[in-house]
Amino acid sequence: MSIGGKSPYNSVFENLLLDSPEFISPNCTNCPLQKKPESCSEECLGGLEIYTEQNAGIIAAIILEPIIQGAGGMIFYKKEVLEKIRALCDRNNILLILDEVFTGFGRTGKNFGYDHSGIKPDIIAVAKGLSGGVLPVAATLVNERVYDAFYSEDPTKAFYHGHTMTGNPSACAAGLASIELYNKEERLKDVISLETKLKKMLTRLLSKFPGKIYGTRVLGAVAAFEIHSDEKTGYMNPSGKSIKEKCLEKKVIVRPLGNTVYLTPPYIITDASLDKIETVLINSLS
Ligand SMILES: *Cc1c(COP(=O)(O)O)cnc(C)c1O
Repeated sequence: MSIGGKSPYNSVFENLLLDSPEFISPNCTNCPLQKKPESCSEECLGGLEIYTEQNAGIIAAIILEPIIQGAGGMIFYKKEVLEKIRALCDRNNILLILDEVFTGFGRTGKNFGYDHSGIKPDIIAVAKGLSGGVLPVAATLVNERVYDAFYSEDPTKAFYHGHTMTGNPSACAAGLASIELYNKEERLKDVISLETKLKKMLTRLLSKFPGKIYGTRVLGAVAAFEIHSDEKTGYMNPSGKSIKEKCLEKKVIVRPLGNTVYLTPPYIITDASLDKIETVLINSLS
């Protein structure tokens, strides 16, 4: 919770959280520094770089969501951010941990979020797409360097951290079956064609509601946009709520994050279902 930063998710625990420094998030759709992603030099990372260089000796790891920050508002950022942070970690002997729970298994159009870049992380967390949501299963994957640090005949060196249900056979079987289908049926191709369809859908929405929505963006099987609002943007912004209610009346479930509306359909969604979502969204925005 402490590394996630203060948010409505954890405000009741605020007094218990450890201090952790906060930095501006890279956001290539609505840049916090009003730069353009084609021409910027990732100035948004300045604060993180300075802090890291100054405190390298006491930092174990940098952890972030690659390419898309999900629940934080479907915030997209460019691969150079990952590459710069990898280099920063390497220079300072710091582990890079990527939370691929949302981005993993094809969601962004590549197997993993980091596949958009040339880097490899030291540790990744995966969950949602691991079983396609069929059964609850998550995994933490590490590279050889981390693995070797715990590999020993000496039991006190072992990584003694597990859960009652760790390695649950049914859940693991669902995960393996899901990965097999993902590969055999070439789900990544479905994501790429879904990406094209979602781009067209958002282009049509934007041309219908130019004064009402902005920040339309699509990557892989993720489409998102913001609703113009006079109130403070962010998770507590109420403008998504009426969209949600109107869509639910027509049996389409969307779950806006504040004023950010997003779609993350299953990769096998039919064109008929996509058309229905578009029609219902248009009605709810009208
Ligand atoms: C959904 C999600 C989580 C939640 O993980 P839990 O293990 O269920 O708490 C974590 N990180 C990201 C990026 C997510 O999208």
